[in-house]
Amino acid sequence: MNIKLKYLVLNLVLPSLLIASCGVKKPAEGLTAPVPATTAETLPIDTAIITGKLSNGFSYYIRKNTEPKNRAQLYLAIKAGSILENEEQRGLAHFMEHMSFNGTRNFPKNELVNYLQKSGIRFGADLNAYTSFDETVYQLPIPTDDPELFKNGIQIMRDWAQDASLDSLEIEKERGVILEEKRLGKGAQERMQNKYLPLLFNNSRYSDRLPIGTDEVLKGFNLKTIKQFYQDWYRPDLQALIVVGDIDVKQVEQMIKDKFSDLKTPVNPKERTEYSIPLLNKNQFISVTDKEMPYTVAQILIKHPGTEIKTTEDMRNSIIRSLYNQMIGSRFSELMKQANPPFLQGSSSIGGFLAGLDVASGVVVAKPGELEKGFKAVLSEIEKVKRFGFTQTELERAKQSYLTSMEAAFNEKDKTSSQNYVQEYLRMFLEGEASPGIDYEYNFSKTRVPGITVNEVNDLAKRYLTDTNRDIVIMAPEKEAASLPSEAVVNSWIQSVKTENISAYEDQVTNEPLISEKLTPGKVVAEKTLDGIGVTELTLSN
Ligand SMILES: [Zn+2]
Repeated sequence: MNIKLKYLVLNLVLPSLLIASCGVKKPAEGLTAPVPATTAETLPIDTAIITGKLSNGFSYYIRKNTEPKNRAQLYLAIKAGSILENEEQRGLAHFMEHMSFNGTRNFPKNELVNYLQKSGIRFGADLNAYTSFDETVYQLPIPTDDPELFKNGIQIMRDWAQDASLDSLEIEKERGVILEEKRLGKGAQERMQNKYLPLLFNNSRYSDRLPIGTDEVLKGFNLKTIKQFYQDWYRPDLQALIVVGDIDVKQVEQMIKDKFSDLKTPVNPKERTEYSIPLLNKNQFISVTDKEMPYTVAQILIKHPGTEIKTTEDMRNSIIRSLYNQMIGSRFSELMKQANPPFLQGSSSIGGFLAGLDVASGVVVAKPGELEKGFKAVLSEIEKVKRFGFTQTELERAKQSYLTSMEAAFNEKDKTSSQNYVQEYLRMFLEGEASPGIDYEYNFSKTRVPGITVNEVNDLAKRYLTDTNRDIVIMAPEKEAASLPSEAVVNSWIQSVKTENISAYEDQVTNEPLISEKLTPGKVVAEKTLDGIGVTELTLSN
């Protein structure tokens, strides 16, 4: 139903620590196990995950988790999305996802949605799906205290994996729904994205495979064309089932073996090519408007070859990145606390982009009529980090806060929601990201964070805040179209910030103790017991 472009262009939320994932039950001795200090080792997999692959290539990830109780999250992930469509299929990965709700072998026509709704599962809110470039994901949260309903939930997943009916009458009915979705999108953001993403994707295959597709294909494709896509790509070696919840894992593993072992791989399976976005080593510019866009927003996006999290070294680097994001985030929060901040909102961070790329970004939501001022203010902050780096005291605070959050996550691990685990396992299946679990991550951070130096964080800034592969995207209300700056004007803003006299950031918060001199210890001069509440009041001589 949804189209997910994965990469959140409008990153208005200040970056938070990358600890939302994790959550592992490991034997207690795991806590004292030494983490190797120098050589990179492959990260272990959380021992609480039951994972396996059937002989047909179908993968599964199962975990017991009782937050919330009596419920489970069922996710079917497929490593196939719009990027695999041929010219005649543009838009059909997403169309196929819709068709999964319009009849399957065991739930013909709209019986699936009706059945689930009768069981209290809301279409859209609970039962949902999304299509992106490289993946299609179906989700079904389901009660586990009704064995029949749970069994049917697994059956629905099995039907989606390979038994969608693709009834031609239902397809005809769905064309209008999808064309309407294409026309309206999910609002201004999506309409504008459809205009500027091809540029951000450097005219690679991604530029021509926006999941919504083309009118021509959506109106005219025939049954054979969509069936071909389904047969080619909905196959066990590209699929995984994730089940996290209040379940008996052994029993669920058996159910998966019983239900999914008969999935067929095509006789001559097509190669699942991994596409990439080549870096062009040039800078690009685009401005787009939409009648429903309330503000003027400018984004600076500097693309880089991506990073992954598979080894201990990768994990340490991802912590350095978190510390960087936290420190730059704090500087922007400080700016926002000024009496008259130069923008409505400003931020900057380093994160993942798409197709294996990373991006260093800066975003400004400008005050009305003050795009230049806001843009320059965000750029100045970025330039300051690039020129002078961060201070030792900023780093110490960031480390402390990182470790505190890690500790909190570790202490609260029994309250981690099933939904969080599912997101982590999705990344493991789709992107090969390691999932070592919270015990490991907590121990790792305690051992490794203290040794991270300010130079390492500053090097990251120097590597990512470069002047090539930089895209500028301006999004604005339609009525402002005439007053928007051209590429040349924006370039002159950038040039002026680069040559500007910027002074280094001064950390106003010190690590000095609150009171610098030691207080002279006093004596207890009076002692009074307050009756009834068990409190003793002491009065000291000083
Ligand atoms: Zn849709």
